[in-house]
Amino acid sequence: MKVGFMGGTFDPVHYGHLLAAETAREACGLDEVWFVPSGHPPLKDHGPVADGEARLEMVYRAIDFQPYFRAMDLELEREGTSYTIDTIRALTELYPGRTFSIIIGADRVNDLPQWHDIDALARMASFIGVTRAGETLDPDRLPASIADKLTVVEMPRIDISSTAIRERAAAGRSIRFLLPEKVHSFIRRNGLYDAR
Ligand code: ATP
Ligand code: MG
Repeated sequence: MKVGFMGGTFDPVHYGHLLAAETAREACGLDEVWFVPSGHPPLKDHGPVADGEARLEMVYRAIDFQPYFRAMDLELEREGTSYTIDTIRALTELYPGRTFSIIIGADRVNDLPQWHDIDALARMASFIGVTRAGETLDPDRLPASIADKLTVVEMPRIDISSTAIRERAAAGRSIRFLLPEKVHSFIRRNGLYDAR
């Protein structure tokens, strides 16, 4: 079984994430895509705004009724920094018989060389890089050991980021239609990104 691993802060999850997962699934013939909200992401300059429970709940609401999308909470339960290599190791042990393809937007493709234990990760899993608005995706800039494991997939550019959504919400602006309505109503009901 071929599984797409969709890691992210999902603070909040939005249509860019969902379309990236769906585009990768279709292009690469994945059986399932697993959304894995990260606990403490290593390469971000600040921690998540919403807590792990709320970010997981938003992912559940976003993937509702999609039989081939799943959400996993294993990074949220782990203490310390979330490294993808540790998660892939854990998943490989927990779910034998699966191969994992790590789905990432162009911004993350470009920082792959900085990922913790990237050479070991590139031996255990492959990468699916999706195009992203405002980012160039140039596999030629990557070391061969990584580029050999990377498939680039074109996706319709969706110029949405969680940062922009948080900023709009904090400014009292509309965030409707940037993410599924069930996520939108959850954010509003709980005032998740209201100005503090
Ligand atoms: P933030 O602004 O907080 O960094 P984000 O929108 O970049 O949020 P992340 O949770 O950081 O979302 O991203 C998870 C994964 O989804 C990353 O691999 C990222 O590149 C990818 N991704 C996010 N938004 C898009 C988008 N609009 N198009 C393509 N890929 C995306
Ligand atoms: Mg990001």
